[in-house]
Amino acid sequence: MPDLAERLADVDARIARALRASGRAPDAVSRIVVTKFHPPELIERLVELGVRDVGENRQQELTAKRAALATVSDLTWHFIGQAQTNKARAVRAGADVVHSVDRTRIADALHAAAPEDVDAPLDVLIQVNLTDDAGRGGATPDGAEALATHVAEHCPTLRLRGVMAVAPLDEAPASAFARLADVAGAVRSVVPAASWISAGMTGDFEEAIAAGATHLRIGSAITGPRPDRG
Ligand SMILES: *Cc1c(COP(=O)(O)O)cnc(C)c1O
Repeated sequence: MPDLAERLADVDARIARALRASGRAPDAVSRIVVTKFHPPELIERLVELGVRDVGENRQQELTAKRAALATVSDLTWHFIGQAQTNKARAVRAGADVVHSVDRTRIADALHAAAPEDVDAPLDVLIQVNLTDDAGRGGATPDGAEALATHVAEHCPTLRLRGVMAVAPLDEAPASAFARLADVAGAVRSVVPAASWISAGMTGDFEEAIAAGATHLRIGSAITGPRPDRG
């Protein structure tokens, strides 16, 4: 069984190959390691291997791990989970980037949670639901543009960076990511600088790279299987 360093190197080699195959620059994507359910010690080992971006999908875990690793500088924390309005303050305090803004109420709550002396805006992405199931997280593809307009006009402490999505289980990732690229274009028509596309996980990051993803969220291919959620 390969160890953590070998799995990380293997994923990075696959990322480099996929970028080359798509004619994209070697530094065209950021690789976020999703560390959910793993202990803070795993993040320390990842940092020793050069990892600078980690992703968490539960606010309590984000808050606890960030506190446990407060002395580790140079680490960017990405919140990729369902955000709740009553947890907005904790999410804002723990995350450097929030990938999962999917309705005006959560945008408003994250904006309102800015500290009085806020010095830098919080980077956010609009999560897009690429499935037909309205119960899944994410704005509808048609609703993303209106949500971008709302963030741009009403949430000055948020900086809209782009869009995020999870590929549906019942569709080829390439076609789902092509639709996400269309939504990304619609969002850029509102906020031209919102150029990030957060897409691609363990099972589909090569397809995401081919479709123009700029931020990959990769968990188990690097960390190994996740422990049961505690
Ligand atoms: C867990 C998770 C990932 C990573 O999943 P893997 O399949 O382990 O790579 C990516 N994005 C989100 C939103 C997640 O919750």
